[in-house]
Amino acid sequence: MPYSKPLIDHPTYNSKEWWAATQQHRLLYQRCRLCQTPVFPPRDACPGPDCLGFQANEWQESAGRGTIYSFTTVRQPMDPRFNDDVPYTLALIEMDEGFRMWSNITGTPVEDVRIGQRVAVAWDDVTDEVALPKFTVAG
Ligand SMILES: [Zn+2]
Repeated sequence: MPYSKPLIDHPTYNSKEWWAATQQHRLLYQRCRLCQTPVFPPRDACPGPDCLGFQANEWQESAGRGTIYSFTTVRQPMDPRFNDDVPYTLALIEMDEGFRMWSNITGTPVEDVRIGQRVAVAWDDVTDEVALPKFTVAG
């Protein structure tokens, strides 16, 4: 059955390499070479408060492990294409490399998800060209 949920149409020049890496199940982020601040999502300017370096962000590969910083349980999707998925967990994950990213927690009932749980990336190959980094509770 073809994948029917939203997909990115046109990656920006900043996100093109990130999406390409996902096809190989590699989770990239950036780090500012001037002040070492981790940067995600990819962008031109460093968000470091005392830096604001421009185009100094370099690609790094994440080990794909982190901790649930916050989460919400989605019971009423904004888009009907997600109707069959509810309830599901949308989490803000603090990655071990120091950046945060939003993703889904899969494989754990929504009532068992907790802030502070360790998670690991679990790739979801949704099409031949797109793999999405979702997360499972680790250990
Ligand atoms: Zn910086």
